[in-house]
Amino acid sequence: MMTSITRFFLFIAVLAWCSSCFSTKKITNRASIHSTFTTDQIKMISAGDSSDILRVFKISSYQDSILLRQKSEPIEFLDGDIYLRAFAQRLYATVRDSASMGVGIAAPQVGVLKNMIWVQRFDKDEFPFECYINPVIVSYGEEKIPCPEGCLSIPDKQAMTTIRSKQIEIEYDTLDGVHKKETVEGFTSVIFQHEIDHLHGILFIDHLENEQ
Ligand SMILES: [Zn+2]
Repeated sequence: MMTSITRFFLFIAVLAWCSSCFSTKKITNRASIHSTFTTDQIKMISAGDSSDILRVFKISSYQDSILLRQKSEPIEFLDGDIYLRAFAQRLYATVRDSASMGVGIAAPQVGVLKNMIWVQRFDKDEFPFECYINPVIVSYGEEKIPCPEGCLSIPDKQAMTTIRSKQIEIEYDTLDGVHKKETVEGFTSVIFQHEIDHLHGILFIDHLENEQ
């Protein structure tokens, strides 16, 4: 027959075991949503695989245009955030989609207000696409470069801008979280300026004269 003391210790042991189960479970749950993205963004990112394109937000839709005009937030690098790379891959698939064939894209264009862009590097061999996290233009060269621009979010519109600097100095993080600084020139510099504008809710049509 169990004495009340034995029963008491048994009760404590079961309690300790149960609470350790619960605390382990809590940590696991927290780890699985440890991400720079919101729950809704994670749902969207996880709804397809890396080669699945995302819907491109268009200025012609009132709802889309409200989001396109907002400022994006910095991306935090969190340990085990599998969604950062997953989102980057889907954003890449979207800019490479045969229907768009863009030379650059910014996260707000798929409805995610986070500082991530892809730029095609026409200043490098074989013109690779590269991903930039939290890109910032730290200085603008004085010389301007007139350039025809278009935008995946503004279909059927191409126009010449004259306010882009020919040379800019940028700082950014790579997908691996390495901070870098570099100078970019020419057409590639215009793509950077166009995509970084998106992170501030600015569209290339804002730079056109006589544009309403
Ligand atoms: Zn654009």
